[in-house]
Order: sequence, then C-alpha cells, then structure tokens
Amino acid sequence: MAMMITDECIDCGACLPVCPNDAVNEGVATDVPVFWIDVERCTECVGFHDEPQCLDVCPVDCIVPNPDYRESKEELLAKFERLH
Ligand code: SF4
Ligand code: SF4
Repeated sequence: MAMMITDECIDCGACLPVCPNDAVNEGVATDVPVFWIDVERCTECVGFHDEPQCLDVCPVDCIVPNPDYRESKEELLAKFERLH
C-alpha cells in the first residue's frame, strides 16, 4: 500500500530526496501538510529497497501506511514496473 504523511510532520524535508520514485512532493497550500506522498508513485519502495526509505529518515515517525490505498506486494511491483 502507498504510504502517507500525517499532520505530525515537521516539514524537515528529509524524506524528499530519499524516495526512489519521486513520490514525495512539497505542497504550496498553507492549510494542508506541506509534504505529501503521491499514491500513484509510492510503491512502499518495492522494486528498490526492502524497507520504505522515507520512514527510515523521518525524525518524528509520521509516515504511515495509507488506509485508502491497500495494495499487495504484486500490485506494488506492477506499479514499480509501470513507473520505470
Ligand atoms: S515508501 Fe518509498 S516509494 Fe513510497 S514515498 Fe516513501 S520513499 Fe517513496
Ligand atoms: S521526513 Fe518526516 S517530518 Fe520530515 S518532511 Fe518528511 S514526513 Fe515530514
């Protein structure tokens, strides 16, 4: 399943450069979390790494599985293959 960034985010930006799918984006609106994850691009790092890289670097552990985008490992791998 895709990951999502919660309101606990402190906007440090550490997750942006580590995503192999360019799935992390920096938003512009002030009333939503500045950093957000594109569910069409997030593969939970399947295809590249064993663990989600954004989770590894987040200092406040505010990146969690997105309950609205449950995907199997096979679906995540298919997404990876579509993207690359
Ligand atoms: S889990 Fe991986 S692919 Fe998804 S946003 Fe985080 S770093 Fe990017
Ligand atoms: S690493 Fe965590 S705290 Fe930093 S911008 Fe990303 S989600 Fe927010």
